[in-house]
Amino acid sequence: MKSIPFFDLKEQNQKLKSDLDRAIQQVISETSFILGKEVANFEKNFASFTGTRYAIGVNSGLDALVLAIRALGLKENNEVLLPAHTFIATALGVSWAGAKPVFVDVDPDYCLLDLSKAKKALTKNTKAILPVHLYGQPAPMNEILNFAKENQLFVIEDAAQAHGASIHGKKCGSFGDLGCFSFYPSKNLGAFGDGGIITTDREDLYEKISSLRNYGSKIKYQHDLKGMNSRLDNLQAALLDIKLKYLSDWNAKRRALAKIYSEELINVKALRLPKDRPGFESVYHLYVILTERRDELKDFLEKQGMHTGIHYPVPMHLQKAYQDLNYKAGDFPVAEKIAKNCLSLPFYPELPAEDVKTVCQAIQKFFQK
Ligand SMILES: *Cc1c(COP(=O)(O)O)cnc(C)c1O
Repeated sequence: MKSIPFFDLKEQNQKLKSDLDRAIQQVISETSFILGKEVANFEKNFASFTGTRYAIGVNSGLDALVLAIRALGLKENNEVLLPAHTFIATALGVSWAGAKPVFVDVDPDYCLLDLSKAKKALTKNTKAILPVHLYGQPAPMNEILNFAKENQLFVIEDAAQAHGASIHGKKCGSFGDLGCFSFYPSKNLGAFGDGGIITTDREDLYEKISSLRNYGSKIKYQHDLKGMNSRLDNLQAALLDIKLKYLSDWNAKRRALAKIYSEELINVKALRLPKDRPGFESVYHLYVILTERRDELKDFLEKQGMHTGIHYPVPMHLQKAYQDLNYKAGDFPVAEKIAKNCLSLPFYPELPAEDVKTVCQAIQKFFQK
């Protein structure tokens, strides 16, 4: 039986091997490992790719969120609105920056923060909104920016799954005060280890975050802020810069594969498939379907060597780590339902189209039983 992996980087890395090897040797022979010219170069290229004036390389996507929120100067009881359905790093970024995450239910069609429910979560302490471009789908930024303006909120985009996603050509990470990206290896642009980056047009935030990521220092041994050690490795920057050139191609391949999934599965009535709003270009970090029979379907596919994932099985308000916030089951019914019904199908740019069709045939068979 042929196995179809959920995700696989081997082919992609093999194709880039000689470029990657050369870059590694170059950094080693330069013996420049921390904040060298490769970091500066990659920051410039990533900012230009995203369409922002600045980008600051950091240690991880989580640190990008922590530093972004710290740079905005939020204090202990300041509240940040974020979706109840996301990866936990979105909430932890707020917590580690010393502010308070406030969860908002998501919409059932896109699984993104539901702005109509954000209004009810506002208090006099609300200082920021943190939409997540989940699964590579752009959150509706025009509406979010209007909402933020009306309520005097900062906007931080969690674009960890959305490198290159856009709304009418404008890229995710370029709408808010700050955009936060992760280079975790399985992201659309992945490093060979951990990494992250923050994008912004604001010079003051660029200056502050550049200092905060480097012990709060601009001049060696002079520390103006209580900063962290959260720098993107020079080696990772050199490798990411090579991969950045291919990112648009890989995203196009993801969209082509998503189209095949959607065409093959359109007639399976029991499924809710991803869909695109007009002018919104998802980069399909994941291809996620919703079905009431999720666990059964997952087992059925697994037995035939087709590997799937669940993103994510527990919403934020039901995580043990956040029991101190006193939410309870039933508070965010849409997020809770998505957690039970979501299934991520095998997905990566080099996945053969025939494998997509094989998975679709198995899914059709499952629902015909
Ligand atoms: C991956 C991810 C992060 C965190 O990134 P790390 O680099 O793993 O710290 C944050 N938010 C979302 C939505 C993510 O998917």
